Amino acid sequence: MLKSHNDTRLGCRSVLRVKRSAIEHNVKELFRYSGKKLIAVVKSDAYGMGVRYIAPILRELPEVDSFAVACVDEGVFLRELGIKGEVLILGGILPEEIEAVKEYELTPVVSDPEHLKVLGKEDIKFHIKYDTGMGRLGFVEEFIEDPRIVGVMSHLSTPADEKFSREQIKKFEEIVRRYKGRLKIHLESSAGVIYKVPYTTHIRVGLALYGEKPLRYYPLDLKPAVSLEARLLSVKEVPKGFPISYGRTFITQRRTKIGVVAFGYADGLMKSLSNRGYLLHKGLRLPIIGNITMDMTILDLSGTDIKVGDWVTVVNEERTFGELAREAGTIPYELMCNVSSRVKREVI
Ligand SMILES: *Cc1c(COP(=O)(O)O)cnc(C)c1O
Repeated sequence: MLKSHNDTRLGCRSVLRVKRSAIEHNVKELFRYSGKKLIAVVKSDAYGMGVRYIAPILRELPEVDSFAVACVDEGVFLRELGIKGEVLILGGILPEEIEAVKEYELTPVVSDPEHLKVLGKEDIKFHIKYDTGMGRLGFVEEFIEDPRIVGVMSHLSTPADEKFSREQIKKFEEIVRRYKGRLKIHLESSAGVIYKVPYTTHIRVGLALYGEKPLRYYPLDLKPAVSLEARLLSVKEVPKGFPISYGRTFITQRRTKIGVVAFGYADGLMKSLSNRGYLLHKGLRLPIIGNITMDMTILDLSGTDIKVGDWVTVVNEERTFGELAREAGTIPYELMCNVSSRVKREVI
């Protein structure tokens, strides 16, 4: 079963807030821009945001056609949340998963001959995936015909590369043309929507739901939907020449007011931000000093009147996961998925 946070826990030391109105806005904007309904990708606990909070928001929106997750277990969890309609299992189907797929009426994406073998003669509808240049899942040279196919998909590997993406779009069009009947055809992820592919029927999006831009230049008007804050556990002054945190990688250059915030790498703050990144308090940048530890991070609070119990900001509308990712040398997806289940989730 999906690891998830316990609703009864106080969780008062860090909180991830999801703004319902921003998610609704982003869904409508994706629909407006593409003219297509959404297959909402909520794999990996809705990108770490908490699928039990995100899926109920999305299912109320007429622009959301259906949901997609990575594996059968995540699909079962969506059903247990009361999600109806098609639930796509992007990662195919393995032999021991067939019973759950039948029982919970999940829709596997077939991308390997072995998946077809698992399905055997079972009456299970599925989508078929072609690899047009992603180099991951999907048929490359075979063409699969089967009356149980209700959807055809592919995936762009490099949406920022227009030339390569157009080649993938063309290859996929040639495949799609060979299918008859009313099928769901989907290719565009959050970044891919910029191509406005004329022959697809749905877009398959995750990241943009949260207002995170998948490309530096992104023509959609998204609203950041997530904030992440944690509380200060201790504030004190230390003398000049004082070592900070494990390994003494930072030595104070002057008398310094330091704050210890209840948010460490176990909560999702990459250790690579040690001595480089910053957190925020009312727009003020608070430098991270010393090594980030599992549960705590040390900040330079000199010149501020910040007190124990105050909240500091990890992510907000100006400083999105995308910004933080740039500072940490990674992508917003990775940071989001790393937000720990012990961080309390709230929908506002
Ligand atoms: C995760 C995933 C998506 C969603 O991608 P975003 O960039 O988050 O919109 C779409 N398609 C496939 C196959 C995926 O694995």
